[in-house]
Amino acid sequence: MTAPTSQRPVMLTGGAGYIGSHTCVALHEAGHPVVVVDDFSNSHPRVLDRIETISGVRPSLERGDVLDTAWLCSVFERHDPAAVIHLAGVKAVGESVANPIKYFDINIGGSISLMKAMQAHRQQVGRLSPLVFSSTATVYGEPSRVPITEDFPLTFESPYAHTKLVVEQMLGAVGRSESSWKVAVLRYFNPVGAHRSGLIGEDPSGTPNNLMPFVSQVAVGRQAHLNVFGDDYPTIDGTGVRDYLHVMDLAEGHVRATQALMDGCDSFTVNLGTGIGHSVLQVVKAFEAACGKPIPYRIAARRPGDVAAYFADPGKAHKLLGWQARRDLGQMCSDAWAWQSLNPKGYREQE
Ligand code: UDP
Repeated sequence: MTAPTSQRPVMLTGGAGYIGSHTCVALHEAGHPVVVVDDFSNSHPRVLDRIETISGVRPSLERGDVLDTAWLCSVFERHDPAAVIHLAGVKAVGESVANPIKYFDINIGGSISLMKAMQAHRQQVGRLSPLVFSSTATVYGEPSRVPITEDFPLTFESPYAHTKLVVEQMLGAVGRSESSWKVAVLRYFNPVGAHRSGLIGEDPSGTPNNLMPFVSQVAVGRQAHLNVFGDDYPTIDGTGVRDYLHVMDLAEGHVRATQALMDGCDSFTVNLGTGIGHSVLQVVKAFEAACGKPIPYRIAARRPGDVAAYFADPGKAHKLLGWQARRDLGQMCSDAWAWQSLNPKGYREQE
């Protein structure tokens, strides 16, 4: 890991969430102090104890809503961050279709509020912190081919993806208006797994929509069986293929991107994925091997809006940041299982 260039903290909005908590650990590992900004609307304060157990360092906490610009300005004043990683937001595709205004408000409104606070802070201290933005590979819509490179056409098929694309475009416009804005846009593929300690992991509220947390809940007995959404796609075994990425690899991608901007790199956009596609049934098999029990499943109808195969060309992130995913599907499953079996009900267990 690169040595930190500053002891000013990295600000992590949404730092108590799934991606945020792992990114916090990776930042600590790289020697960066962290200030977590979170309102715990989709996370639990207990995650900070777990981060402290893993890292031996407790991040500072600022509890509040990123939409509250005046409060966010005061957070900047208190901490004067060396860089900002913006993860705070909502991310359920189905919910975004049912309630698009919520998504526009939190994801777009939250990003505008953050940019305003950054600009106000710049007026006080005379410099602008670099910004890393959490985007998604769903901005590629249904790609004409795979693997997907960053120059593929961008579109959206849900209000969720729309909000990510709008924020990417706003950040592009802001950067064109003033070159002192340094922004890294990270387009995630399918983050899964957990820290190897099993102390932090994905803790979805309600029934999980995504494959890996659903499979984990089948393994632990919280769901009776997995519905496999379609087995007639033109893929290796007929089931959908995705680019599953270990969340600690993703977290380390954030550290590399932050470090690159702090070291003076110009703004950039990169895919974060492994470049390898796995089918639903391959994931089921790998999870069975990791947990040592069968995962009952049934073939069900295709899920509307799903595509057959989706995976990254991660070459640009490798070239620009020296970043490459290091953990394979077996590790993703065994770490997801460690988290799920130690915390069958997530962070809420002891309540
Ligand atoms: N999937 C499935 N059953 C589930 C959830 C997901 O068969 O209960 C499939 C889904 O159709 C897709 C893959 O698993 O082919 C990954 O789905 P996920 O929602 O995790 O990610 P996304 O489709 O958003 O990339």
